Amino acid sequence: MKIICIGRNYSDHAKELNNPVPTKPLIFMKPPSALLVKNKPMYIPDFTKNLHYEAEIVLKVCKNGKHVQAEFAKKYYKEIAFGIDFTARDLQDQCKAKGHPWEIAKAFDNSAALSEFISLKKVNQAAGIKFQMKKNGEVVQDGNTKDLIFDFDFLICYVSKFFKLQMGDYIFTGTPAGVGPVQIGDRLEGFIEEEKLMDCNIK
Ligand code: MG
Repeated sequence: MKIICIGRNYSDHAKELNNPVPTKPLIFMKPPSALLVKNKPMYIPDFTKNLHYEAEIVLKVCKNGKHVQAEFAKKYYKEIAFGIDFTARDLQDQCKAKGHPWEIAKAFDNSAALSEFISLKKVNQAAGIKFQMKKNGEVVQDGNTKDLIFDFDFLICYVSKFFKLQMGDYIFTGTPAGVGPVQIGDRLEGFIEEEKLMDCNIK
């Protein structure tokens, strides 16, 4: 199982971090040891002073495939979850400045929080899937997949050119604007449409 992540896939988020809006998907990965499931708490690692949340819709790959063609892309995902791409923003800024890889800032233990999955039949994908992150009860991210720069189908095709998709892989599809830091004692809640799927305490 691999965790494929897409960066800067909402233009409002790319802009808030002063990054250019990409012309191709920006891909990075996290190892299986990054998974944080079942609403377990997130313990702030001691190597960062600026741990950020990034709310994302996550696809679960349900079929093996390589070089997937656009007309078949929808067959490769049937379920979505709410995910948090936890990021050590201070380390990421250092890596970016030096042109170094991001792994220590993005792929550390428990950096990929994942809710239970729901069927895509429960949402209207064509109309755009709404998702929200609340921090301590206040909405901090309010996204809609209609604002994706690269939509789910495009990502399936593009990613599968480089990496064979395998059943059980996850694809974090990017975060909208509103990312920010967490502190000990914060509570993060994630919603897809009206359904609460994530409840993560920061410790
Ligand atoms: Mg992200």
